[in-house]
Amino acid sequence: MLNKQGRQTDIVNLTELPQDSFATHSGNRGLEQDELLIYEIGDTERTGVDLEEVENFENRLGGITREDKIGLAGLSEPETMRHYTRLSRMNYAIDMGLYPLGSCTMKHNPRINEKVARLPGLADIHPLQPMSTVQGALEAMDKLAHWLKTLTGMPAIAMSPKAGAHGELCGLMAIRAALDKRGENRSIVLAPESAHGTNPATATLCGYKVKSIPATENGHVDLEALKEALGPDVAAIMLTNPNTCGLFERDVIEIADAVHDIGGYFYCDGANFNAIVGKVRPGDLGVDAMHINLHKTFSTPHGGGGPGAGPVVLSEALAPFAPVPYVVHSKQGFALVEHMEDGSDSFGRMTAFHGQMGMNIRALAFMMSHGSDGLARVAEDSVLNANYVMASLQDDMTVSYPGPCMHECLFDDRFLNGSGIATLDFAKAMIDEGYHPMTMYFPLVVHGAMLIEPTESESKQSLDQFIGSLRHLVAEAKAGNTELFSGAPYLAPLRRLDETLAARKPVLRWTKPE
Ligand SMILES: *Cc1c(COP(=O)(O)O)cnc(C)c1O
Repeated sequence: MLNKQGRQTDIVNLTELPQDSFATHSGNRGLEQDELLIYEIGDTERTGVDLEEVENFENRLGGITREDKIGLAGLSEPETMRHYTRLSRMNYAIDMGLYPLGSCTMKHNPRINEKVARLPGLADIHPLQPMSTVQGALEAMDKLAHWLKTLTGMPAIAMSPKAGAHGELCGLMAIRAALDKRGENRSIVLAPESAHGTNPATATLCGYKVKSIPATENGHVDLEALKEALGPDVAAIMLTNPNTCGLFERDVIEIADAVHDIGGYFYCDGANFNAIVGKVRPGDLGVDAMHINLHKTFSTPHGGGGPGAGPVVLSEALAPFAPVPYVVHSKQGFALVEHMEDGSDSFGRMTAFHGQMGMNIRALAFMMSHGSDGLARVAEDSVLNANYVMASLQDDMTVSYPGPCMHECLFDDRFLNGSGIATLDFAKAMIDEGYHPMTMYFPLVVHGAMLIEPTESESKQSLDQFIGSLRHLVAEAKAGNTELFSGAPYLAPLRRLDETLAARKPVLRWTKPE
């Protein structure tokens, strides 16, 4: 029969698939190769390298040398290649298809960025090399810092934070240092209900109590409730703009003024900068500190625990409290200030070395290849794409807040009411359609949230295909085909996993079966 795109397919109906017929001897399903753990296929004696025994060396570990073997499994080189290639094929990736995770900005990683980051003068240097030998690398850091400050309209920047959450920590530590300097011991940080989990987590880690600000019916911060919560004990507000419902907080300047009036600081969570880059400068909105997820807005790779980078721009008020190190430029060239000078207000150092160099280079390459007009197009196209998805699906799914939206669109599970299909089941069925599910159950302000962020990377053709899949699933749900959802995913290497058990009781150590 023909599938929805008119292509020939053998699969008639997923739920009629005889699942047992997949029980091949090898565990492989055609081109989809099964793969065992490295401990099951490798052993401690096997290795892909052949090194000579070292003779006459002096042990300087002072008696703490490991006596027993470390027990790591090894493989030969061809086995290693196969092992990781097979594993990589079980993974969903931005290079395979649309990755609709809302809030995460999973966009294409341009290959020019990869090429530049691999230039030996940038890839093969060491952070402890003499500064005179890494002038180009320092200049690249300085240039990126310059453009991040220019794009945000902020006077200062800390380049070392290694993720958005790390940037939040940096921002709040700068705020705490500023308050300490004023001799004030404020104890509360305000965060809207829709905040990303890292916001309250960061505030708590910094020793603050978090007070939650409710949202209005339209998905914005409730300005009146916010003003009521403000007082002399409030250190800061952490606000995401555009917010996690995909909406621009129109009251943002009034919010900034109100927070400043009581002597507090405005931390902006900049994870959604993708929607406004080249269009709006957060510095013009009264922001005191904002992290920029280079791995979101500036396309550096992320996911699977890979490295991100979260530089933090700072206002005039917070600039003196920025952490070391930072790059300075004089007639002698570029240099890193590694240590706090006497009398410095810097809150100290957050991390070894200077930040994620490879990410810095990729982000700079992204900026330079786009230019100012291209960066503004990033924001325009990401917003256009999200609104296209929202408008296309508004009659099928339930839109949480009336549009237009910014770079992501929020649906909730009301369209599944009475169908007997849970939000989670719907997400699992998307895997059979060949898509990573959108962000599920976040933000918490609506029931059964489904947050879709297509990003500017997607063509209309790819959006139409995605929309077609979702429409198909919605139609099946409304027609009562519950089995298509309750048993999903049918086509993934593993079906339903007990995710709660895995999170609560993770098995982190492989032990040889008896
Ligand atoms: C991604 C994200 C963060 C955290 O950033 P990481 O780089 O993952 O640490 C914080 N807030 C929002 C709104 C985000 O989307």
